[in-house]
Amino acid sequence: MVEAPAPLTWRDLAGIDLERLKRGNRRRVQALGELGVAHLGDLLTYYPRRYLDRSREATVDELQVGEDATVLATVERVRAVPGRSRRRRVEVLFSDREGARLHCVFFNQPWRAKQLREGMQTLLYGRLETFRGATQMTNPVVDLVGDRTGGIFAVYPLSAKAAIGTWEIADMVAEALRRCAQRGIADPVPPELLADHDLCGRHEALRLVHNPESFAEVTRGRNRLVFDELLRMQVVLVGRKRLRQRSGDGIAHRVDAELLEGFRQRLPFALTAAQSRTVDEILADLRQPWPMHRLLQGEVGSGKTVVALMAMLAVVCGGGQAALMAPTEVLAEQHHLGLSELLRSLDGAGGFGSAGGRLALGGLPPVSLELLTGRTRASGRERILAGLTNGDVDMVVGTHALIGEGVAFESLGLAVVDEQHRFGVEQRAALRARGAGGGLPDVLVMTATPIPRTAAMTVYGDLDVSRLDELPAGRAGVTTSAVTEALQQAAVWERLRAEVAAGRQAYVVCPLIEESDKVEAAGAEATYEELRAGELAGLRVGLLHGRLPASAREPLMAAFRRGELDVLVATTVIEVGVDVANATVMVILGADRFGIAQLHQLRGRVGRGSQPGWCFLVVENPSPPAQARLGALVDSSDGFELSEIDLDLRGEGTLMDSRQTGRSDLKLASLRRDRDWIPLARRAAESICDAGGPDPVLADEIALLLSDADIDYFDKS
Ligand code: ADP
Ligand code: MG
Repeated sequence: MVEAPAPLTWRDLAGIDLERLKRGNRRRVQALGELGVAHLGDLLTYYPRRYLDRSREATVDELQVGEDATVLATVERVRAVPGRSRRRRVEVLFSDREGARLHCVFFNQPWRAKQLREGMQTLLYGRLETFRGATQMTNPVVDLVGDRTGGIFAVYPLSAKAAIGTWEIADMVAEALRRCAQRGIADPVPPELLADHDLCGRHEALRLVHNPESFAEVTRGRNRLVFDELLRMQVVLVGRKRLRQRSGDGIAHRVDAELLEGFRQRLPFALTAAQSRTVDEILADLRQPWPMHRLLQGEVGSGKTVVALMAMLAVVCGGGQAALMAPTEVLAEQHHLGLSELLRSLDGAGGFGSAGGRLALGGLPPVSLELLTGRTRASGRERILAGLTNGDVDMVVGTHALIGEGVAFESLGLAVVDEQHRFGVEQRAALRARGAGGGLPDVLVMTATPIPRTAAMTVYGDLDVSRLDELPAGRAGVTTSAVTEALQQAAVWERLRAEVAAGRQAYVVCPLIEESDKVEAAGAEATYEELRAGELAGLRVGLLHGRLPASAREPLMAAFRRGELDVLVATTVIEVGVDVANATVMVILGADRFGIAQLHQLRGRVGRGSQPGWCFLVVENPSPPAQARLGALVDSSDGFELSEIDLDLRGEGTLMDSRQTGRSDLKLASLRRDRDWIPLARRAAESICDAGGPDPVLADEIALLLSDADIDYFDKS
C-alpha cells in the first residue's frame, strides 16, 4: 500500500518554482519576479489589491469630464493611425456593459494595436476630456482583465511596467491551487480552534480570496488568512514571554511589603486606584525569579513617576540598585527633581532616611539618588561611576549616558526606561545587559503615548502591560474648543490675555510644517513676529523652535519656568519635557495639520495644576477628516479612548509601520480592520504555547515567514 503523500507545507510551497506551472512561461515568471513573487508560496500570498464588482463599476455615462475614474469596458474596434512619431496613434473604441461607447487615444504606443483585441475586457483608468466637441480618454492606464465571467474578480497589484496582466496572475494562482488540491495544503491550526472561530480551512481560504464568487466569500477567506498571520506573530510573542517566565535568570527581589506600605502612606497624596493597582502588579513581578518586562502606559500627568519610585524603592530596600533612563537631558533632570522631592517627602514625615526614623525602619541607610547625563562634570561623574560600581549609589537617573562606556553597576536590579518613543529596542537591551552577573534586572518601560489595547498586544506583545487610565484628582482639567471664524479667534486672544493678566502663562504652537526643520523654524519666526506686533503686543513673548541650539533653548525654557515670560511661541519641540504648572492656555495654530495623539499630548501641557486650562484648536482648513479629529478632542479627554478613535479614523497599519520595518508576514492583517481578531489570535497563541508549543509545521512556518529581523526584534524588545 502506498501512503498518501503529506499535505504541502509552506516550506514545500516555497520550494516550488513558478516554471512548474503550465502557465508559468518565461515572460510571466520574469514579470512576477519583478513583483517579488519567486515561488508558489509567494504566488499564493500575492493577494489581490481589490475586487472588481462588475455590477458596481462606473459606466461610461457616469464619467465626469475632468475627473479621474475607472471604467470596465470591452474592446470594440482598434485602429492604428500611421504617421510620423508624435502623430502616430492607436484609436480604440470601447463599450461598457450598458453599451455606451468610449473613445480612447493612445499616442506613441503602437503595440496597443496588437495588445487590444476585439471582445477583450479591460479596466481603464484615466481622465475624461473633451476634444473637438466629443469626449475621450487619452493614454489611459489599461488593465487587461481577460474574458472572465462571474460577479466579482480579483485585481492584483501591478507595477506600471509589469509585463503581466492581472488576469494572467489570477490564472496562475488558479492553476496553482488546483494542483495543490491533490496533496492539500498543510493546516497546522488545531481544528478545535478553527471551529471555535468559525474559520475555514487554509486551502479553501486561499481559493476564496483569490477567486471568490461573492464579497461574503472574500471576507470568509480573508478572516482565515488574517487569523493565520496574527497567530504566527502572537505565537512568537507569547512564546518569548513564556520563555522569559521559565528562565530562572531574573532576580527574585525580596520586597518588604510592610516597608512599602509605610512609604505609600507617607506620600504627599493618596495613590489613585490605577496607581495602586499598577504598583501591586509591579511588586508581584519583582518577587518572581524571572525578569520582569512590563510596559507602563499613562499619559502625561497620570503619575508615572511615583509608580516608578515605588518600584525603585522596593528594589533598593531589597539590596539592589535601580536606574531610570530618560531620552533627553531635560527629562532626566525633571525625573531627578521629581524623585528627589518624593523621597524628601518620605523622609520628612519622620521615617525613612532621617536619623530618627532609621531605626524604626530596620536600620536602613538613607537612599542615595544621583543624576548622570552628558552634562555631569567629570569629577561628579567619576564619583557616581565609582558609586554605581561599588554599590554606594542606590538609584540613578540619567540619559543614554547610563549605557555609555565605563558604566558598571554593582547589582542593577531594576531598569526603568522612560521611552516616549525615543529609545530604540537596542538601548533598552543595552541597559538590561548592564545587570549581567547577578541575574537580569527587571525592566519597566514607561510610555506617555496611550495606544489601543489591541495595538499594545501587537507592538508590545511580549510585554506585560499596566495602564494608568485615571488621572489624579484635583486637576482642574482643560476645556477644548475648535475655532475657525475670525470672530472666534478674537475671543481666543482675549482669553489668553485675560489669563496672563491673572498672572498665568500661555503657549502658542505654530503650524506643523513637515518639509524641514528650517522651513518650520522660519514659519515659527514669522508667526512670532506677527503675534508680537498684533495679538500679543505688550506681553513678554519668547520663541522656541527646533533650530535653536540647546544653549539658547534652555535659558529660554528656564525663563518661562520662572515666569519671566508670559507666552511661549513654539513649534512642537514643546511636546517633550516642558512642565510648567502655571501655564493655563494652549493655542494650537493650524491644528488641522496635527494628528489626534499629538494634539492630545500638546494639550496635556495645560490644566495640570489647580487652575483650569484652555485649549484652542485653531483650524485653517476644516476638511471633514480634520473636523472628525478635532471633534474627538473637543469631546474626549481620555487618551486611551482617543487612541481608539485615532485608529478608526486613520489609514491602515500606521502604528506598525512607524515602529519598525520588517513584519513581512503581515500581508493582509491590519490593526484597524482586524482589531477584533487580535485578542482571539492572542488567546489561541496562549493556548498553543501552554499546551507545549506550536506543532512542528507551525513552528517551521513561523521560522520561514517571519523574517530574521522580526524574530530578532521580538528577541530584544
Ligand atoms: P507623568 O510622569 O505620568 O507625566 P508625574 O508622575 O510627573 O506624571 O505626575 C504629575 C503630577 O501629579 C506630579 O506633580 C505628581 O506629584 C502628581 N501626582 C502623581 N500622583 C498623584 C496622586 N495620586 N494624587 C495627586 N497628585 C499626584
Ligand atoms: Mg524579578
